[in-house]
Amino acid sequence: MRKGQGETGLIFDEPLLWEKGKEGRVGFSIPASDVEPSALDDELISPGPDFPDLSEVDVVRHYTRLSQWNFCVDTGMYPLGSCTMKYNPRSNERLAELPGFAMAHPLLPDTLTQGALRLMKELEDFLKEITGMDAVSLQPAAGAQGELTGMLLVHAYHKHRGKPRKKIIVPDTAHGTNPSSAALCGYSPVRVNSGEKGILTGEAILDLMDEDTAGIMVTNPNTLGLFEENIREIASIVHSKGGLVYCDGANMNALMGIVRMGETGIDVLHLNLHKTFSAPHGGGGPGAGPVCVKSHLEPFLPVPRVIESGGTYELSEDFPDSIGKVHTFYGNFGVMIKALSYIRTMGAEGLKRASQLAVLNANYIKEMLRESYHLPYDRPCMHECVFSDKYLRAYKVTTLDFAKRLVDYGFHPPTIYFPLVVNGAIMVEPTETESKEDLDLFIEACRCIAREAQDSPELLKEAPRASKRRRLDETSAARQPCLAG
Ligand SMILES: *Cc1c(COP(=O)(O)O)cnc(C)c1O
Repeated sequence: MRKGQGETGLIFDEPLLWEKGKEGRVGFSIPASDVEPSALDDELISPGPDFPDLSEVDVVRHYTRLSQWNFCVDTGMYPLGSCTMKYNPRSNERLAELPGFAMAHPLLPDTLTQGALRLMKELEDFLKEITGMDAVSLQPAAGAQGELTGMLLVHAYHKHRGKPRKKIIVPDTAHGTNPSSAALCGYSPVRVNSGEKGILTGEAILDLMDEDTAGIMVTNPNTLGLFEENIREIASIVHSKGGLVYCDGANMNALMGIVRMGETGIDVLHLNLHKTFSAPHGGGGPGAGPVCVKSHLEPFLPVPRVIESGGTYELSEDFPDSIGKVHTFYGNFGVMIKALSYIRTMGAEGLKRASQLAVLNANYIKEMLRESYHLPYDRPCMHECVFSDKYLRAYKVTTLDFAKRLVDYGFHPPTIYFPLVVNGAIMVEPTETESKEDLDLFIEACRCIAREAQDSPELLKEAPRASKRRRLDETSAARQPCLAG
């Protein structure tokens, strides 16, 4: 196989800083003091933590080496289904670093932050345009928090009409955060199974929808990578019983410029700026999960909201029916800058093309691997495709073995064992930022692994073999993590 992305040699070893330190070593040199030392009051000198003594190069090498143990989008393909690990252009970072933005204090008065407020307003307007919704709150810090915010809006809506409800319908192909968000808001999630084609049917919703059900949460495209084609019919069934339709739009990367979600009958939708709109994620950094609503839910949006009149912007809390705050100040501003920069540099045509390429790439992988890996739902997919380990199991090889072996080939493994409706699921989302050459390398690696499963399954059982750490006992790794390197 042609040389791939990972390196097998030169994997640096690195002890703890405490093991590296040597007494008396320092990272600086300053001129000798020319004043007499004077005794300080003992109480002023606290013993402090026991830091190791290190030179500058010790510290630089330590952290640089550790950084190279990380796999990231900047080092290779990261086909993690449902996570949209696309490459994020550096130009967006540059703009977020502009001192006027980066140094602005959240307590500055509106008169001194007109540019920042205008940026937020512009981003809201673009997101309205992209989704076809009427109003936006940029406040939630993540997709899951956007969902919770959306549920709080649904709750506020029913309460305002004097008819609070208790249940929310959640399909078996929803993202795992959906039932949790509904439950956190006090609703009982009611599961509905997808039909044979991997999408929801109107009949299934008709059976469940009643006047004690606040609405439905639909992930669209769903976690099988399929578009919920019956969404309009489902929305009208739910509306006919007075319910609302929540759309989990974290997978908007498949739809930009192609589907105006606001015209599919939904009432509220969240986006993940740290997926589709090119803010880096995956390391637990800040994110943004804006919530977009139709006008009947607008009065309940979180405060403060940016309002504009005659070219002047202000943050207003004057929305008496608002659910209140869901984040300090107005959310993660840095992420908003990157998203706006991305949207403006791409333009309408560019965003549409990104979605088209994301869908094309996923379908390319699906077609190229169909002989090697079982396709539980063999239909054209959206941004991701889902395989199962059905063919591997004949050789007693599992999805986990496949994922670990991919590490040896230099690829981050895809999402595995999710969605739950597929046994041994392998969920691949290549995104639009991978070139055909890189996709081909990935495909070749997957095909090699399928052949190995047949010819030498023990290779897969022992994988990964080339990485810094061999296969961990997953349970003890999670319960008793050893963080010492
Ligand atoms: C990623 C994702 C979420 C959760 O987003 P976070 O920012 O990780 O909280 C929700 N739904 C879908 C479909 C997702 O892909």
